[in-house]
Amino acid sequence: KGPDPEIPLISQRMAGVKHKILVLSGKGGVGKSTVTSLLSHGFAHDPDKTVGILDTDLTGPSMPKMMGVEDETIHISNQGWSPVWVMDNLAVMSIQFMLPNKDDAVIWRGPKKNGLIKQFLKDVDWGDGLDFLIVDTPPGTSDEHLSVNSYLRESGIDGAVVVTTPQEVALLDVRREISFCQKAGIRVLGIVENMSGFVCPGCKHESPIFPATTGGGRALAEETGIPFLGSIPLDPRIGIACDYGESFLDSFADSPTSKAVLQVVRGL
Ligand code: ADP
Repeated sequence: KGPDPEIPLISQRMAGVKHKILVLSGKGGVGKSTVTSLLSHGFAHDPDKTVGILDTDLTGPSMPKMMGVEDETIHISNQGWSPVWVMDNLAVMSIQFMLPNKDDAVIWRGPKKNGLIKQFLKDVDWGDGLDFLIVDTPPGTSDEHLSVNSYLRESGIDGAVVVTTPQEVALLDVRREISFCQKAGIRVLGIVENMSGFVCPGCKHESPIFPATTGGGRALAEETGIPFLGSIPLDPRIGIACDYGESFLDSFADSPTSKAVLQVVRGL
């Protein structure tokens, strides 16, 4: 079997995208999609930068809701598939925009998932191009990761941000994710420890919930020689902002949590 004839078309489309960053996690529920949303808003804070989010979690798409655009649908033009623009400089593409019923389950085998990811990379018209394409992926290592990696190889992936929680560091999942990146030749840009302490909504004091493992993200980074990008506390206002599709960084610009998020953004 020869090389995929559509790879040059993907590369042509990706020529307008300066940086491509994957967001990964060893397992679900650690806040990978939340971090994707926070980082994207963080990059888009600079009005001179344009950011695209590609939701490749085909069986559990959560970006449209988190970005407050879940009822939108995509449009097809001569230029390709138009993503949904959340702000002037922030757009999202997700399978969710194509489902006639938002609650429909997507039950697809590998080749069909592969086909849609290829189309996302080849056909989405990101306008005048992007400074950052942030790719949200399903938890673990699955077909979607392999597809993204094989289709973007030629155009170049900057690397992956690995999201973990303090408890997860003690488990094998996050190490497997790092090992996957190493085997697949994807540079790990850094580790983010999410939900690393609890910010009390009343007094705003931050307390470690799992004192024995808090700081595990940094320790794992040191052990593996991967940069530590920072910790984001468990802050109920993040969950609420995501549930309502609002930007936490805009709503709580001066909070220590926002500062922690922006520190991660600056580290990238
Ligand atoms: P994943 O993408 O890893 O499955 P999600 O991003 O969907 O995880 O997050 C799981 C749940 O935890 C969501 O309800 C989200 O709002 C919440 N959550 C994630 N990170 C935080 C945080 N730092 N503070 C508060 N809630 C969070």
